[in-house]
Amino acid sequence: MSEKILVIGESRDGVLRNVTFEAIAAAKKISSDTEVVGVLLGSENLADQAQEMIYYGANRVITVIHEKLASYTSEGYGQAVLSVIEDESPYGIVMGHTAIGKDLTPKIASKLEIGLISDAIEINLDGDQVVFTRPIYSGKAFEKKVITDGIVFATIRPNNIPSLDRDESRSGEIQEKSVDIADLRTVIKEVLRKATDGVDLSEAKVVVAGGRGVKSADGFKPLYELAEVLGGAVGASRGACDADYCDYSLQIGQTGKVVTPDLYIAVGISGAIQHLAGMSNSKVIVAINKDPEANIFNVADYGIVGDLFEVIPMLIEEVKALKA
Ligand SMILES: Cc1cc2nc3c(=O)[nH]c(=O)nc-3n(C[C@H](O)[C@H](O)[C@H](O)COP(=O)(O)OP(=O)(O)OC[C@H]3O[C@@H](n4cnc5c(N)ncnc54)[C@H](O)[C@@H]3O)c2cc1C
Repeated sequence: MSEKILVIGESRDGVLRNVTFEAIAAAKKISSDTEVVGVLLGSENLADQAQEMIYYGANRVITVIHEKLASYTSEGYGQAVLSVIEDESPYGIVMGHTAIGKDLTPKIASKLEIGLISDAIEINLDGDQVVFTRPIYSGKAFEKKVITDGIVFATIRPNNIPSLDRDESRSGEIQEKSVDIADLRTVIKEVLRKATDGVDLSEAKVVVAGGRGVKSADGFKPLYELAEVLGGAVGASRGACDADYCDYSLQIGQTGKVVTPDLYIAVGISGAIQHLAGMSNSKVIVAINKDPEANIFNVADYGIVGDLFEVIPMLIEEVKALKA
């Protein structure tokens, strides 16, 4: 294999995030003749996660285990990743465009004085050049970018580049690397995570999002039920969050999360431009709104003009019947 591409993996509660597997597929798009080298950081045994990366297509995985890597800090993770990059001299580096990816990768790029293409949703080859497509102006346009010098370094948006199928017959080496991590200026004492059930919103394949039309926190309950039968997650407009119907961690849009699920169901959401910024690149959009003039219908593939309190129970029953 001529080239080596590092894929920096990310896990939550000991389970690798899907975007890690998508990043492996992205590395193979950058170069099909490449050795994909997974990189996993943490403070405890990472062998099972490393094996998962191999099942999803990594040829080799380097694990760095250190007590200072128990929680993410850009300083600690940065030192560990830079040390791996120094050893491996990769042709490329890929990571998910997640909260950690957005924080870590610019710091690495600046330390190495190399370019970085962030939030790529598509990778194509044009002759020898690797062309990355990324949304700009809140998803209203797309730009194509190439890196002309140095390491091909990119973050990829979750849910856009399909991962390879998991294949337990794939094999590869797992190497443990020891790294000296200098004293950190920021030490995480404790992480208190907000309780969230089920599927992670930013990686969900189906999102059921509620707006001010849902009218109350109780009104969100049927949305949770619909999300559950569809195996998806619940999101919200800022209108619903401001009205205290749900937590701000559910907010989708310009000042919330950006999601690109296979199916986005907008329920009682008017379709303000700031909301569209977070969901208009979803693959299929269904809008349920009682106002036929609502702007959300301009981006929807399917529209239901009706009262959400009548439509949602019907949808839940239909989906349950289909699954029975
Ligand atoms: C700087 C800035 C940043 C912002 N960032 C974001 C952001 O990140 N995300 C975001 O979402 N917004 C954001 N906003 C706010 C945005 O402009 C809108 O105010 C907000 O999206 C509106 O939320 P909504 O669609 O839930 O409410 P509304 O606009 O009030 O729409 C409610 C909809 O529900 C429908 N409805 C009512 N009852 C029913 C019923 N029974 N059945 C069916 N439909 C019904 C109505 O017809 C209406 O279309 C931002 C605004 C600013 C200025």
